[in-house]
Amino acid sequence: MSASANTPRRPIVAGNWKMNYGPSEAHDFISRILDDLDSVTGVDRVICPPAISIAAAHAVTMKSGIALGAQNMYDAEKGAFTGEISPLMLHGLCAYVILGHSERRALFGETDELVNRKTLSAFRHALKPIVCVGERLEDRDASLTERVITTQVRGSLANLPAESLGDLVVAYEPVWAIGTGRAATAQDAADVIAIIRALLGEMYGAAATAGVRVQYGGSVTAANAADLAAVPLIDGALVGGASLTPDFVVIARAFAQAKGFA
Ligand code: PEP
Repeated sequence: MSASANTPRRPIVAGNWKMNYGPSEAHDFISRILDDLDSVTGVDRVICPPAISIAAAHAVTMKSGIALGAQNMYDAEKGAFTGEISPLMLHGLCAYVILGHSERRALFGETDELVNRKTLSAFRHALKPIVCVGERLEDRDASLTERVITTQVRGSLANLPAESLGDLVVAYEPVWAIGTGRAATAQDAADVIAIIRALLGEMYGAAATAGVRVQYGGSVTAANAADLAAVPLIDGALVGGASLTPDFVVIARAFAQAKGFA
């Protein structure tokens, strides 16, 4: 059954470790924050280690309420795809997978068409996709933000299964805010997230997409998390640098407190 347009959405805070923390470092860092992070209720907490560290992270988190996500995957199940990870390989380890991160789009040539194939594959394999969209600074300066976001949302999120839309997470990550220390203002983030929600509504209907969670990502820190979390349209955060430190717990707690989700 579809969620109603007023259904509250459980916040989700995910840490994208990027290419940091090998298996033993992953084990040590998670062990250090595990109890604190586990004690933060009312928010989905997701850690996304590099692929080689997922198993080590799973060994530490398996008895906790913390979920794992991959940072990427290929859409095929197996075959001659050197260096790639199959959705089948994530089973039993990851509940989520980040797809179409701006670094994958810019540095590894990922297109909306490929991100869409991966997103459809994630749904086929019962993985919850965290699909990233976001404009570059030159797009924003040229007043092209809406056009860029519209193209990415329509292209990356085409033909999704209506019955699984509640498992979709979209991360609005303006490229100019990632790793720069210059977060979007809460108002700028909310304006673009409103565009994303309206587009999803046009594509799939407002009721079917009421449960889709839209995060903000880009220089989220322990210092700005509460301001961002206070904005009703921001359902959580995708956190890069700060997720490598115990500040990740502070950020998760800020969203749990602001959203008041039991
Ligand atoms: C990210 O990598 O998705 C990200 C938002 O990074 P940072 O928080 O470091 O800006």
